[in-house]
Amino acid sequence: MDVSVDIEKVRENFRVYNTLSKDIERFEPIEKNKVRIYSCGLTVNDYMHIGHARTYTVWDVLVRYLRFLGYEVFHVSNITDISIDEKILKRLEEEKISFQQLIEKYTKAYFEDREALGIERANVHPLATQHVQEMIELIEILLKKGYAYIAEDGVYFSIRKFQNYGKLSGIKPEALVAGASGRISKDEYDKDYVGDFALWKIAKEKEPYWYSPWGKGRPGWHIECSAMSMKYLGESFDIHTGGEDNIFPHHENEIAQSEAATGKKFVKYWLHTKHVLLGGEKMSKSYKRLIYLRDAIAKYGATNLRLYLLSTHYRKKLNFEEKGIEEASLIVNRFTKAVQITLKSLRKEIKNKNAQELLSYCIAKFNNFLDALNDDLNTTAAIKYLDDISRSIITFVESNGFVPSEIAENIIYILDKMGEIIFGDLYKREIRLEPTAEFEEFIEHMIKERDELRKEGKYESADKIRENLRRMGIEIEDLRFGTIWYIKKNSLYRK
Ligand SMILES: [Zn+2]
Repeated sequence: MDVSVDIEKVRENFRVYNTLSKDIERFEPIEKNKVRIYSCGLTVNDYMHIGHARTYTVWDVLVRYLRFLGYEVFHVSNITDISIDEKILKRLEEEKISFQQLIEKYTKAYFEDREALGIERANVHPLATQHVQEMIELIEILLKKGYAYIAEDGVYFSIRKFQNYGKLSGIKPEALVAGASGRISKDEYDKDYVGDFALWKIAKEKEPYWYSPWGKGRPGWHIECSAMSMKYLGESFDIHTGGEDNIFPHHENEIAQSEAATGKKFVKYWLHTKHVLLGGEKMSKSYKRLIYLRDAIAKYGATNLRLYLLSTHYRKKLNFEEKGIEEASLIVNRFTKAVQITLKSLRKEIKNKNAQELLSYCIAKFNNFLDALNDDLNTTAAIKYLDDISRSIITFVESNGFVPSEIAENIIYILDKMGEIIFGDLYKREIRLEPTAEFEEFIEHMIKERDELRKEGKYESADKIRENLRRMGIEIEDLRFGTIWYIKKNSLYRK
């Protein structure tokens, strides 16, 4: 039986929802085997919350899936380390730290948090502060081409000049507020306020600044992403991702700036995640209604949390609920157990005719898993098929004992592929754990001792051994043919 997948065929059927066309489209990169992708990264003036974490986890699955499909992926994700507002200036005074120290602290935390959730580093994480020159050059082009103008407080993009303004968000430039009051220097604003946006902002008192032909100041947030994405990925690239609140104004403005400057189509596919809600409402820093990722990991464990964040499709809002994390943790446990039992089976010389049936079932479910991801990254369905496979392995082992090694070899291939896509770096770190020979011997010895105590009717002492093992992260289960055990490990920040 052949477990390998016809990748070419699977990849022909990969479809994604494109915010630009508002339709599900077959994915076809600009260059045949290469995918160039840009993800808007964090503004590093605070810790990442679970809404950010969901977004980055989904793009991590996307990148890993594209690689599974055989694409050479080049992923760029920026770090916004320029953003300044009054609240931040106030915090600098309160915390008695410099802007530089604040940025360094949260940039470090950002990478720690990504790693804790098993999210792979992008190929490049460009810092905005190191690309101010590229941004200035882009603004100069826009000025030269007549898309931008200089005002007393900075340089602005004239959205009336760009014909296709609104093509991503559906916002019409007719709603434009005219004159000086129609200029927006804030980076974030809502749909009711369409106007010319800032490309360069002249620094006010106490604000950090960079030099430019228009005076000391700093670039606007939107020009940052246009300049850095085009620097690393070219004037036209395949995928641009972000959260739903990036659609307007951030991504709409990125398109305007980039396409006005180059005259070329900026991005082929725009993908956006929906919000994570708390108690039915959007998370918000100002109302203190948010959960930081590192707190959530400490409380629930990284693998459980990662699976939970993926259990709702990325284009649906996720209402954060502990009940859902409990359910996710059961799926993680079953998967962990299935993977480790299958790994142990690789070393067992056993024959069992029923095992062929188990393998056929796993192959069928693995194909369902790939179909689900092909359907606009339907992780909800994919996780269900992953769990079906875990359950079938566990059920098999419960009635038959270990899986014959030649079958286990094929099954582990499937488990590895699924595990790496869904759990990312956490798969090897917390699920696919192989004990050293010494450790294994020690555990087997403890289990034997427990068996003897039970035979002698010393149940209390036997239970104590089980309790001690559990404290070490070892779960044991008594099956008809004997006792099996596996390592249950959970996460970096967990106490
Ligand atoms: Zn961006």
